[in-house]
Amino acid sequence: MADDTDATGRDEPNPFRFENEVPAGEKRHFRSEVSETYLGDSVEIPVTIVNGERDGPTVFVTAALHGDELNGVKVVQDVAARYEPDEIAGTLVLLHVVNVPGYLAQQRYIPIYDQDLNRSFPGRARSNTAERIANVVYKRFIEPCDYGIDLHTSTRNRTTMYHVRADMADPEVNRLARAFGSNLVLAGEADEGSLRSVATRNGTPTITVEMGKAHRFQLPLIDRALDGIESVLAELDVLPGEAVDWPGWRRVIDSATEKTWLRADQGGLVEMLYDNPLVHEGDAVCRISGHFSQSEVIVRAPFTGLLVGVLQNPVAAPGHPLCHLVGVGGETLAEIEREIESGEFTEQPWA
Ligand SMILES: [Zn+2]
Repeated sequence: MADDTDATGRDEPNPFRFENEVPAGEKRHFRSEVSETYLGDSVEIPVTIVNGERDGPTVFVTAALHGDELNGVKVVQDVAARYEPDEIAGTLVLLHVVNVPGYLAQQRYIPIYDQDLNRSFPGRARSNTAERIANVVYKRFIEPCDYGIDLHTSTRNRTTMYHVRADMADPEVNRLARAFGSNLVLAGEADEGSLRSVATRNGTPTITVEMGKAHRFQLPLIDRALDGIESVLAELDVLPGEAVDWPGWRRVIDSATEKTWLRADQGGLVEMLYDNPLVHEGDAVCRISGHFSQSEVIVRAPFTGLLVGVLQNPVAAPGHPLCHLVGVGGETLAEIEREIESGEFTEQPWA
C-alpha cells in the first residue's frame, strides 16, 4: 500500500525532474505508481527514460491511453530498446501503457464506471479515478516535456487509415506533424480533456497518431510510426540527420474540407464493396441486407473522397456509423489516382 502523497496526486506542481530521477547518460526502465486497485495494491505504469549524454529537448511518447489500443504499445517497446543515451541529445520519456486498468481488462476505458482517461487531463488530485491518474501522469511526466507524441488506434470494431491529428495552426505542432511524415493529417484542436489538447495548450506541443485498429499489432503501421518518431527526433535535433521530406500525396484535412460519416438507415448485415479507400461520387461503398435477403440497400459515396475510417464488425443498426469519408479533389486526387494505377498506393483502412 502506498503512502506517497505524490503518487496519489496533489495540486501543486510535482518537484520531479528527470535529471534527478535518471541522470544524464543513463537509460532506466522502471514502474511508476499512479493509483491503487480495490485490494490496495499499486497500479503502476511501465516507464522508460533515456536521458542523453548531451543536452536537448525532452520528448514524450505515450501509448494505450485507451487500454485496448495496442499498436502504440509495440512502438514504445521498440523505441525504448532502440535509443541509447550516447546517441541522443535530450531526453526521451516513454510511457508504455498509460491506462493500466483498461489495458489489464483489454478495454478502451478505465473499467471503473467506464471513465475515459483521454478526456480527463490535466486531471485533479481530489476527483474521480480517471482524473487522479491523469493528474499524476500529467504532473510527473508530461508537464516537464518540451514535445509529445501520443499513439492511438481506432476504437474497437473499426479501423482507421494511418494519420496524424494535429493543431496545424500552432507552428510547433505543425512542425512535428510534418516531420512525422504521414500522408494524411486531420487538422484541428483536440477534444477537451485529451492529452493532446491540454499538453499543447500548456506549452508542450503534441501530436496524436492514429494507426489501424485495436487489439492488434499491425507491423507495417508500427514500422511507419517508428520511422515517423525517428524523423521527429531528427527534426528536433535529438538525433543527428534530417527529418523526412513530407511524402508523396499528402492532404491536410481541416474544417473547410468536406467530410461526413456515412450511417446505416436500416438494421442488417454490412458488406463493404469498395476496392480501395478512394471512392468517387456515386460509387457503391457498402451493402446492407436483411437476413432473409428481403431488403438490400446500397450506400453510395455522396462525394469523391477517402474512406479514412471503416466499420469492421459487419452488422449495423439504424444510425450506426459505417464509414468516415473525407473529400479529396484537385492535385491530391490526381496524385492518389496515379499512385493507385501504378500500385504505389498503400493506404488501407482495413489493413
Ligand atoms: Zn485512442
